[in-house]
Formats: sequence, C-alpha cells, structure tokens
Amino acid sequence: MADDRKTELEAMLLQQRTAFTSARPEPLSARKDRIQRAIALLKENGDALCRAMNVDFGNRSPMQSMITDIAGTIGFGKYCLKNLSKWSQPEKRKVQFPLGLLGAKAEVRYEPKGVIGILAPWNFPVNLSFNPLMQAFAAGNRAMIKPSEFTERTSALMEELVARYFDPAECVVVTGGPEVAHAFSSLPFDHLVFTGSTATGRKVMEAAARNLVPVTLELGGKSPVFLGRNADIAKAGERIALGKMMNAGQICLAPDYMYVPEETEDGAVAAVQLGVHTMYPTLRDNEDYASVVSDRHFERLQGLVADAKAKGAEVIEVNPAGEDFSATNTRKMPLTILRNVTDDMKAMQEEIFGPVLPVKTYKHIDEAIDYVNAHDRPLGLYYFGDDEAEREKVLTRTISGGVTVNDVIFHVSMDDLPFGGVGPSGIGSYHGVEGFREFSHARSIYTQPKIDIAKLGGFKPPYGAATEKAVKGMMK
Ligand code: NAD
Repeated sequence: MADDRKTELEAMLLQQRTAFTSARPEPLSARKDRIQRAIALLKENGDALCRAMNVDFGNRSPMQSMITDIAGTIGFGKYCLKNLSKWSQPEKRKVQFPLGLLGAKAEVRYEPKGVIGILAPWNFPVNLSFNPLMQAFAAGNRAMIKPSEFTERTSALMEELVARYFDPAECVVVTGGPEVAHAFSSLPFDHLVFTGSTATGRKVMEAAARNLVPVTLELGGKSPVFLGRNADIAKAGERIALGKMMNAGQICLAPDYMYVPEETEDGAVAAVQLGVHTMYPTLRDNEDYASVVSDRHFERLQGLVADAKAKGAEVIEVNPAGEDFSATNTRKMPLTILRNVTDDMKAMQEEIFGPVLPVKTYKHIDEAIDYVNAHDRPLGLYYFGDDEAEREKVLTRTISGGVTVNDVIFHVSMDDLPFGGVGPSGIGSYHGVEGFREFSHARSIYTQPKIDIAKLGGFKPPYGAATEKAVKGMMK
C-alpha cells in the first residue's frame, strides 16, 4: 500500500483525537446529536443504501436489507439515545470500614476512550458499521469506520454519506481492500471493534497488540441447533429454515448444523424442507432470496457439498420449483441438507456461512453436548423444546456467546442483551449496557478524607507497633 494512504489514515486519527481532547468535557447533548444525525442519515438514505446492497450482492431483497440493516440499526440508535444518560451516571462504590465514617469516597465514572476504529464485514454492511458507531457515540467517542471491500458500492455510499452528515473530526469512513484494512488495524486507536472471520480476527488482534489497543472481536463459528426430544418439529423446522435462508445463510449466527434425536431425523429434515417450500416457493428469480456474495464464496460452498458427498454424506437439495441453477450466474444456491455427516468432512470443520445444513443425530442428548464441548466455543447455540430439565442440561453444560431458546438468531435483536462470542467466536461484546461500558473507560476515583489515614492505619514509617497491629487486624 502506498505510504501516502497510511499517512492519510494517521492524519485522520490525529485530527479526531485532537478534536476529542480539546472538546472535553463534552455535554451529553453532543453525543445525542451525533446519534440523531446517524439515525437521520439512515432514515433519509435507507432506500439508496438498500439499492447499493442489492447490487453488491447480485441480488439481495431491499425489503430484507430494510429490516436487517436500516430499521434494526435505527432502532438500536434510539435505544442508545434513550439510555445514554442513565448509562453515563457515575456509580458510588463502597470503601472499606471505617474509611466511609472518616469521609472517604469512591466512585466510578464511565468516560469516553477517545477514537474507536470499526472494521466491518460484508454480510450486514450497514448494520455492522453503524451499530457499533451508535454505541461508540453513546459513550462519547469519535469513530473511524473501514467497511468491507466486498460490498464496494455500499461502502462508497457510506463514505459519501458520512462525509455529508459528520465532520471528519467526529466520524469518517475509509474504503479499501485488505492492505488498507491491515494499515487501519495497525493504527493506535483507543479501541478497535472488528466484526469478521476468526482468521482475520487473529490478524487484527496481532496488529492491535503492537500498540496495546484494546479490541472487541465479533467473530464467527459453528452455531449448533439442539432439537430436544419433545420439540415441536414443525415449528422448529420452519424457524430453522428461516434462519438458514435469510441472507442465504450468510449470517454469523445462522444455525450451522442441527443435532436431532435419531428417531426424529426424517421428520426434522422434512419440516425444514416444508419451511423452505412455504417461504420460498421459487428461488432463482425470487428477489426475497439472496445470492451468495461472491464467486469465491459460491465455489467454497459448492466445494463443501462436493467434499461431503465424496465422503459419504447424503445430499438433499431443497429446490421447491425444481429450477435449473446450472445455467445462471446469479450465484443463487438452494438450501442443501447433508445427512450422515462425519468429522472428516469440511462442512463439519469450518463455519458454513451459506445455505448448507448438516444434520447429526443422537441417541442421548449427552452425545450432542459432548460434541459441542469438544469443539470451539460457538457464537450462538439454539435449543428447541419445552422440557425444562433437558433445556437446562444443555445450557448449563455448554458454553456459547449467546443462546436463543425455541428459535435461532433472535437473541442478537434484543438491544438490551450483550452480544458477543467466547474465545474463537469472539472477545468482548456490545449492545446493552455492556456495549456502552466496552467503549468507555471505567475510571476509578477515590477521595481521601482530611484525617491522616496512612498514620491511622499504621502504614506511615517509621513502622512499628501500630503497623503490626494493622497487619494483624487485616489478616484476622
Ligand atoms: P473478513 O474477516 O474476511 O473481513 C472483515 C473485515 O476485515 C473487512 O472489512 C476486511 O477488509 C477486513 N480485513 C481483511 N483482511 C484484513 C487484515 N489482514 N487485517 C485487518 N483487516 C482485514 O470477514 P467477512 O468475510 O467480511 O465476513 C464473514 C465473517 O464474519 C464470518 O466468519 C462471520 O461469522 C463473521 N461475522 C461475525 C459477526 C459477529 O457479530 N460476530 C457478524 C457478521 C459476520
């Protein structure tokens, strides 16, 4: 990458940090004004952004984009507006006895960190740029955003719009490919939020570590579905189909594979098929059904299916209208269910991130629990069923970033719940008060009383009997 691009990024960061420092202390009204402008940007340009996403994907329903990227993000902005005064309140904390009686005070103030870097992926390009932005603003920060190069038009439009609604000292969008992304992640931000793959997340954390920049990593993984023994199979099948078909499975939280009781496998597979047939009677020219984002991802997904087939999986293509996909370049791919899967298949090794659904069976739910525990901690975990004991067994014996019970994905849409992964599926979280705190510095402030506490406590040299007494007292 040309050195002048790197210099340009450094200059942007310096401009924001200088403005941030000199404007302090900023009133909460300045934070609210920025969130309101971000909301206005989305409201006034939602249609144009949805059109851009449609072109970037090859096909992506503008209605779907309106729900996932525009309306949902505006809703989150409003939630931040409503809560930021409460979140920003200093908190009184306890001091050890008898310091309180002597007039000592302790409090935590949630202060802005400074400039937050936001690195976003292509699958929900607006939402995953603007949601962190809303909360970075709520906490009083400035922000620089680097959206994905895969959604070129959307990223260019966000760059243009942000420049129209914000001063570059408040917020700026930087576009470019992996080299720009690497230079971006090497900047000495006050915090860096990355949403993307686990492999890139590792590189981002390495780059950030050189400057000791704290990171929030929102990564991916294989989110399992547990179908309990008494689950309502028809309902579960439809919900799993919706979660797997939306955005053609290109959702970090999409159900990756399904674990079902042995005797229910046929019924569960049929229920997912029925769900697809009902919601998507056709696929090829159906605007509601998204394309796979790029040729590379399309080939990767075809490769997962071919590999599974060669290694003995049964492949069921859910193609409701029996359409011919070979003669198109739409990158539309029907949901492909894989049965009899084994761990040596790539589909059971890497995050699928597309319309492919492996099915595994268990005799006893413990097998499914053990399987999940033997693999990377997933981002999401789903349990279907009304058996409380079974549900609690699954929840208390597994670990995942979040959980939705009796559906998939939905926990991410609860503004007040923290959203994030664990280990390989992510570090840190945002949404909820947790997100505000993630982008804030919890500053401890202790006020010493007038009385000489050090002397009273025996900590003041020369050490002697008072010190010994104090130490004994503390260890009692
Ligand atoms: P990606 O990791 O390829 O790219 C994400 C971003 O990283 C892009 O902006 C890209 O330009 C940038 N990037 C690329 N190379 C880089 C480098 N060397 N250094 C720094 N940045 C670099 O991810 P993607 O393909 O755009 O998105 C799909 C992945 O994202 C999936 O794994 C999915 O699970 C995950 N995801 C996670 C969440 C979540 O909230 N946890 C949400 C959406 C997607």
